[in-house]
Amino acid sequence: MTSKVDQKSDIGEKSVGKVDVSQLKNFIGGEWVEPKSDQYTDVVNPANGKKLVDVPLSGTDDVNEAVAAAKKAQKEWSLEPAPMRAEILYDIGQIMKERKEHLSQILTQENGKVLEEARGEVQEGIDMAFYMAGEGRRLFGHTVPAELKNKFAMSVRAPVGVVGIITPWNFPIAIATWKSFPAIVSGNTVVWKPATETPLMAYEMAKIFEEAGLPKGVVNVVFGSGGKVGDAMVHHDDLRVISFTGSNEVGRNIASECGRQLKKVSLEMGGKNAVIVMDDADLELAAQGIVWGAFGTSGQRCTATSRVIVHEKVKEELEERVLEEMKNLKIGDGLNDGIKVGPIINQGGIDKIKKYIEIGKEEGKLLTGGSELTEGKYESGYYFEPTLFTDVKPNARIAQEEIFGPVLSIIPVKSYEEAVEVNNSVEFGLSSSIFTQDANQVFKAQRDLDTGIVYVNAGTTGAEIHLPFGGTKGTGNGHRDSGQAALDVFTEWKAVYVDY
Ligand code: NAP
Repeated sequence: MTSKVDQKSDIGEKSVGKVDVSQLKNFIGGEWVEPKSDQYTDVVNPANGKKLVDVPLSGTDDVNEAVAAAKKAQKEWSLEPAPMRAEILYDIGQIMKERKEHLSQILTQENGKVLEEARGEVQEGIDMAFYMAGEGRRLFGHTVPAELKNKFAMSVRAPVGVVGIITPWNFPIAIATWKSFPAIVSGNTVVWKPATETPLMAYEMAKIFEEAGLPKGVVNVVFGSGGKVGDAMVHHDDLRVISFTGSNEVGRNIASECGRQLKKVSLEMGGKNAVIVMDDADLELAAQGIVWGAFGTSGQRCTATSRVIVHEKVKEELEERVLEEMKNLKIGDGLNDGIKVGPIINQGGIDKIKKYIEIGKEEGKLLTGGSELTEGKYESGYYFEPTLFTDVKPNARIAQEEIFGPVLSIIPVKSYEEAVEVNNSVEFGLSSSIFTQDANQVFKAQRDLDTGIVYVNAGTTGAEIHLPFGGTKGTGNGHRDSGQAALDVFTEWKAVYVDY
């Protein structure tokens, strides 16, 4: 296989950030295919309500077609040496890198996150391409001493086959790359269902797959709702893995169906992430970490900080600093300079936040925010004020349930032990953080906090793609996205014995 990057890699300056299609088609077997039904729905920019594109509402027949194409391509793809598969992944990363600004601007338009964050997300995808391309030269197994003479014993990683990936709207490119890149470098083929809210990242990635010379059928994209396309994937016998990121409720249903079929399933779901602030913490640093963690991406991150567990001795000072820091949060269309907080994804998201604000008013003291923004420049988008509650009890609903919006609760505690107990008292176990200058407490915290990710002296968000990403308890089922851990989702261990 030769590199295709130099053939066609630049989309031209004038096209940067422009949506070049009005109606999407599925990408199946390397072709752009009309869905079997003629049903479509609008995709709108949540910053201004303007329509971006029509997305198909595909059905079971489209899924069947995509799985058949993936199955047809899988054998040959798996026989391609892994370093050669990796070379295409490297080319994919190269095109993404050249197109970073374009991808970022499209991402901001369909998802609403501010451009700076969109660039960060696209960069995660690029990093993942290069990292997983490197795996093509590793994919290590083990050789072990055999128990008998004239015998050789080893383990190898084998692809699972055809895999299904189902991704959410809040990280439409990063999460897709965390799943699809380890899948393809390991010799699997993929059927990908992106979220209906954010199909343009999948469209842009499919174009890149084509241009990089990924063989037809290795990655197939089927647009449509979770209830139809996602459900058909979960029930399809030929999909041997489902890798899902999304809400807890949907993930639990997927897990039970996959359990019934003995299908491998990887689940990355919600979070109720806390920052612990001890009485010896650098409070300025803590306030900055908290505000970025809570209100970046308008709180619509699985790792968003939604609780601050603060030692009572420094509670008042921390509150003041957080309120001060929040004054810098300029709200608006993320494509514009200086905006720190973009819109909420849709009206459903706004309604859910409003419901929790009413609950929060009963459960704590509202310090700032609490309202939807509907006037002037906010009129046609979906905007909500960054909101801070204090004196919230650990078992309050706003301190236990995932709100998925810019709402933060401060919970005072008396000791490190109580802080750990409160941190661990929620259903989820994704990310946590502690601000302290005590080195012993740092090591205790990384042991005691029951989450898949622990930060020290930083907010709860952000991921390095060569480390595992995911959580404990209600957040997931122990499999991980990203890093080498992702290879365990998309490969089977095979023991090989050679008698000679
Ligand atoms: P969601 O409603 O569960 O949707 C996630 C994906 O699943 C979408 O593609 C959705 O399709 C699809 N889906 C919906 N119902 C389905 C079904 N019955 N069968 C199969 N697929 C189905 O979640 P979301 O609102 O998009 O995302 C927000 C959630 O994701 C939050 O809870 C957040 O914490 C979590 N999240 C977790 C992580 C992590 O790594 N732990 C990362 C990011 C987000 P449609 O939307 O197109 O219908």
